[in-house]
Amino acid sequence: MQLWENYHTPSTVTEALALLASYNGAGRVIAGGTDLLIDLQFAAEHQQPQQALIDITHIPEMTNIVITDGVCNIGAAVTHTAIVQSEAIEHGATCLVESCGVVGGPQVRNVGTLGGNVAHALPAGDGTTSLVALDAEAEVAWADGSREWLPILDLFKGPGVSAIDSTKDVLVGFRFALCKTHEGSAFKRIMRPQGVALPILGCAVWVRLDEQHAHYDDVRICLAPVAPTPVRATEVEAVLRSQPLHNDTLTKAVTIARETLHPRTSKYRATADYRLEMIETLLRQAIPMAVERARTGIAEAEGVGLG
Ligand SMILES: Cc1cc2nc3c(=O)[nH]c(=O)nc-3n(C[C@H](O)[C@H](O)[C@H](O)COP(=O)(O)OP(=O)(O)OC[C@H]3O[C@@H](n4cnc5c(N)ncnc54)[C@H](O)[C@@H]3O)c2cc1C
Repeated sequence: MQLWENYHTPSTVTEALALLASYNGAGRVIAGGTDLLIDLQFAAEHQQPQQALIDITHIPEMTNIVITDGVCNIGAAVTHTAIVQSEAIEHGATCLVESCGVVGGPQVRNVGTLGGNVAHALPAGDGTTSLVALDAEAEVAWADGSREWLPILDLFKGPGVSAIDSTKDVLVGFRFALCKTHEGSAFKRIMRPQGVALPILGCAVWVRLDEQHAHYDDVRICLAPVAPTPVRATEVEAVLRSQPLHNDTLTKAVTIARETLHPRTSKYRATADYRLEMIETLLRQAIPMAVERARTGIAEAEGVGLG
């Protein structure tokens, strides 16, 4: 079964955009192919092989992790495995290592990319969930050759629908501030034990504590999927901000989460009731874990490689 007709490996973003333009909508960006090959197989079964694939994994600026002045730049074609292996990201963005470290199995992580996770635009991509909690920005090279940095959430338009048209545009990379003193992050996920099942729920948390480590100074939380696109749990964040690090505060946050977040029943994931229970479980695990990392400055990723 032929899945595509032409395969290109451009070495610059400009070249990739020109190739996409030359196919006028009949070409498509491919990175690790872990999501796309499934779609191509389905299309080929209906006698529609893709006319051209533009492989962006040979573009140097898209395959690097660069850290400058506490800001981490990750190319969209960086694999989950490369992120997991980065000590700087483990220390400064522990949640991202924890989320990339549970994507699929080793084979998927070795080729699957952070950019593919975001461009696929599912509401519960694990890498995406942590990028949202890290308040990341994404750089897009649009079909007209212009480049733009956008808040990560602006890319998500619906389940599987991205602002990026992968037949025309290229997602170049991401940037976010690494955790400084008094800051920490954590990611936790509930998943059926089988490797290929969809996550039931994921939760990424970033916190900044006050200098005395007595209060939450600032908090960002992303729980997914609880809506058609990834969302910040802003009401939960508001309940924590400026409040003491007591169990009572956590209980108030969980109560607000139950009132304001509305996961659906999904035959592929779990019932709404079960997932609401799991929101509490995940918040009670991830928030204290992020707080502990912020308090001690020790951030060792947990659960990586468990699939
Ligand atoms: C067995 C299995 C298990 C999986 N488990 C998980 C899991 O646990 N958690 C999870 O989040 N995901 C999981 N996935 C989904 C997938 O592996 C990830 O989303 C992965 O990050 C996708 O990256 P990729 O490089 O393979 O994307 P590709 O398949 O190459 O591309 C995906 C889509 O994004 C577009 N695209 C890719 N890169 C760019 C770019 N730079 N610019 C513009 N468009 C682009 C492509 O055109 C395509 O539409 C799993 C997949 C499989 C097959």
